[in-house]
Amino acid sequence: MASPSFDQLGLIAPLLQAVRELGYEHPSPVQEQAIPLVLAGRDLKAGAQTGTGKTAAFALPILQRLAPQASSSASPARHPVRALILTPTRELAIQVEESFREYGKHLPIRSAVVYGGADMNAQILQLRKGVEVLVATPGRLLDHVQSKTVMLNQVGILTLDEADRMLDMGFLPDIRRIIALLPAVRQNLLFSATFPDEIRGLVGSLLRNPAEVQIAARNAVADLVTHVVHPVAREKKRELLSYLIQTRNLQQVLVFCGTRIGANRLAHQLRKDRIQADAIHGDKSQAERLIALEGFKAGKTAVLVATDVASRGLDIEGLPQVINFDIPHSPEDYVHRIGRTGRAGLTGEAISLVAPPDMEALAAIERLIKKKLDRVLVPGFQPDGGTAATLMGREARPARREQEPRREQAPRPMAPRPQARPPAQPRPQGDPIFSKPYEPSAPDGSAAPKSEAPQSSKRRQPQVAALLGGMKRA
Ligand code: AMP
Repeated sequence: MASPSFDQLGLIAPLLQAVRELGYEHPSPVQEQAIPLVLAGRDLKAGAQTGTGKTAAFALPILQRLAPQASSSASPARHPVRALILTPTRELAIQVEESFREYGKHLPIRSAVVYGGADMNAQILQLRKGVEVLVATPGRLLDHVQSKTVMLNQVGILTLDEADRMLDMGFLPDIRRIIALLPAVRQNLLFSATFPDEIRGLVGSLLRNPAEVQIAARNAVADLVTHVVHPVAREKKRELLSYLIQTRNLQQVLVFCGTRIGANRLAHQLRKDRIQADAIHGDKSQAERLIALEGFKAGKTAVLVATDVASRGLDIEGLPQVINFDIPHSPEDYVHRIGRTGRAGLTGEAISLVAPPDMEALAAIERLIKKKLDRVLVPGFQPDGGTAATLMGREARPARREQEPRREQAPRPMAPRPQARPPAQPRPQGDPIFSKPYEPSAPDGSAAPKSEAPQSSKRRQPQVAALLGGMKRA
């Protein structure tokens, strides 16, 4: 099937030039579908995850729609905020604003980014100069509204990026307050990886006769990912993790932990087992995060232990393995976590270490993804008899297996896979994004909730195969 070219999407020359300069050859599916719709002024409901090219899918047409009003005047009054993009995390906000700058570099359109946990004054100085495109996290935007350092009365296009995550993080009331400040007549775009009920509620109230684009099927998990559950006694989880990493010689694995403290401790314990490991979470300083992420991307660190919030939007994808050391309590997080693997046309593996207390969370995940995950006992690490049987899920196992405990399966093949998937490109230096994490939301909405981990602000090498259809289409 011949892919269309960017020229066929109706984009103007300055945007085509920018895209060419970035080395994009063909639009990704979400771009191919969304760009003409947004150019036509439609409201849009888009199901697409990070890594599908969704940012350009809204940034390019937004820039084009703003272009006729673009002004080369220095006067701030000539640069009112016309497009507002709300994102859940500062890292995503920074990345999205960078994308606007890259895509819009041949247009006289200004952009700025505001997010919590950073100095308001520097942001105010930028806002004062006038910007057409404002990328913001909700809490901090409301701070600026309150201190009258931003005007939203000329916003003609609103984009909610990663709407599901914004809801998870408790931003819905802030989002509603912001929407109430916008002109009634405007274009609305909503991007979300998943569509839980609350998002569908928001879609219903926010979007007018929206066009729909679905790149990853609703709550779908990448086709190329194999899932395996290792039932394990709770106290043996850490040991099993080391065992799997060592016996299978895993070279680049993202391990998910439920808490920041747990992530730190786990990385420390892995190092004691002589496994190169580091942790990434919101409590880490900018320098520490930078070192952790760069070491992992460069292949110096085999294991990066991350919390969910830290992993969200992290510019590391296409990993061979993702391991759930702690099972996520929100099943949607499982979908996000494993979105880190099985990209770019390569297969990936999502390994979950499931102890008895995780059973309920596992069942919720299986319900969400409509898939029974394979249970594989690792000899020496299984929980005691009765619990193991429950964890194995009787109905999923042929009875014969249950009667033959000695035939438990060994871990999956142990061949290292370093050649199959080279480490991601090391990031260039000087990345400005690793600044202080968010603090929990203050009642006045002055700070963004939860801490966040960094995300590369430099665009990574395009994963063209993934962008061009590595993800499941609805
Ligand atoms: P996103 O899903 O927006 O975070 O984009 C994922 C990555 O794909 C980013 O590094 C983009 O620079 C890159 N990208 C976006 N669109 C294309 C394209 N059409 N061709 C190649 N790379 C792209």
